[in-house]
Amino acid sequence: EQFWDPVAGFGVTFRTMFRKVVTEQYPKEKLPTAPRFHGRHQLNRWPDGLEKCVGCELCAWACPADAIYVEGASNVDEPDPDGNSQRYSPGERYGRVYQINYLRCILCGLCIEACPTRALTMTNEYELADDNRRDLIYEKSDLLAPLLPGMEQPPHPMRLGDDEKDYYKGEYKAAAAGGDTA
Ligand code: SF4
Ligand code: SF4
Repeated sequence: EQFWDPVAGFGVTFRTMFRKVVTEQYPKEKLPTAPRFHGRHQLNRWPDGLEKCVGCELCAWACPADAIYVEGASNVDEPDPDGNSQRYSPGERYGRVYQINYLRCILCGLCIEACPTRALTMTNEYELADDNRRDLIYEKSDLLAPLLPGMEQPPHPMRLGDDEKDYYKGEYKAAAAGGDTA
């Protein structure tokens, strides 16, 4: 019996060599996540680059882990003394400070459900590890969606209409035409 034990063992090894490999070669190969995977958050923009966030803090109140910190401020239509616009969102208010603490966040998605303007959504990005605690507190600059062609970095005047409501009308039109402004 002792003679056959190693033979049986190598038999298992030999059979396994021809089985389909199930090991994922992460991080060299990244498999796509499920389409509705809850990953890192994103703060979305309107097609002219203005921010969708209106600084209402509803996301922060909805968060069960107390992971979001928002400080709102008022948009000002008059240019500052240097002639620069002071408008960041088409609304009355915008999120002046916006932080998500990924040491606390459990990626539950309650914040994105609470957001009235669809400013906050979640991406499929899951690489949220770091070697220090400070860098896991994401600032607004880390969370804002990148500028796409045709977008301009705020602050700047409203380009899609003279009123906040024009922005939402535009979004409904885009949605009806099968487009997405998120
Ligand atoms: Fe808080 Fe959940 Fe949003 Fe994370 S996903 S910030 S835990 S509400
Ligand atoms: Fe309000 Fe949405 Fe901005 Fe949170 S992300 S402060 S819910 S507008």
